[in-house]
Amino acid sequence: MEERTGRVRLIGIIQCDFAKERCSGFACINSFTNRIDAFEDYAEDGIMAVPFNCGGCPGRRISRTAAHLAKRAKRKAGIEKDEIVIHLASCMATDNGHYPPCPHLGYIEKILARKGFRVRKGSYRSKTAQKRREDGVYDAFDWKCGQ
Ligand code: SF4
Repeated sequence: MEERTGRVRLIGIIQCDFAKERCSGFACINSFTNRIDAFEDYAEDGIMAVPFNCGGCPGRRISRTAAHLAKRAKRKAGIEKDEIVIHLASCMATDNGHYPPCPHLGYIEKILARKGFRVRKGSYRSKTAQKRREDGVYDAFDWKCGQ
């Protein structure tokens, strides 16, 4: 994971295709909008959030979609790649109410690192899942990882 340094103007949120079969993605965007959970350190005004799905195992469309995101952000909004942070949503990165963490996380992180993206793990922090982490039912998760 790369360190979070410098100005942030856009956050891409990659969500698990399987989880998105039932999830609207509301909670991730709510957390971003209110700067809570994995987004609490973003103080800058005017940050844009762009959620997208992984495309199914093993993160089939991540390379293409992340490249498209960077290209569009530059062309349409003058946002440079180093002003983008990609969050791997909680449905992928954590042990949670949908599933255990994505078995392809390492592969996906490597793809994004090779493309030169700054990456962080986590998005929405469910109270129920957090309680289950604390109770040892789900694996622990470091909400500060990748900062
Ligand atoms: S398990 Fe991982 S690679 Fe497979 S659909 Fe979910 S996030 Fe994507």
